[in-house]
Amino acid sequence: MTKFMKEIKDLELVRLNIQLTKKCNQRCKSCNSYELDCADEMSCKEIKRVIQECCALYPIQNIAFTGGEPTIHRDILELAEWGGAI
Ligand code: SF4
Repeated sequence: MTKFMKEIKDLELVRLNIQLTKKCNQRCKSCNSYELDCADEMSCKEIKRVIQECCALYPIQNIAFTGGEPTIHRDILELAEWGGAI
């Protein structure tokens, strides 16, 4: 079980909001997302594992991918297709 899963094990989750990336191709004045270090972001495999673990433990009804700008994540199409099928 991941550290994240241990931290949330006592919650009753029905919705997942997963920040795929902090990267963004916009420059909104109220945000510095484009300046953030993205070196620690989860891989596609890690994202899928977190989703699978959450779905095994909780009655997840909705998964949302957020950012930054999630549509610039290199694996967004794979994750969206995969996530829509689980
Ligand atoms: S993450 Fe959102 S608020 Fe921040 S720069 Fe990108 S679009 Fe703007």
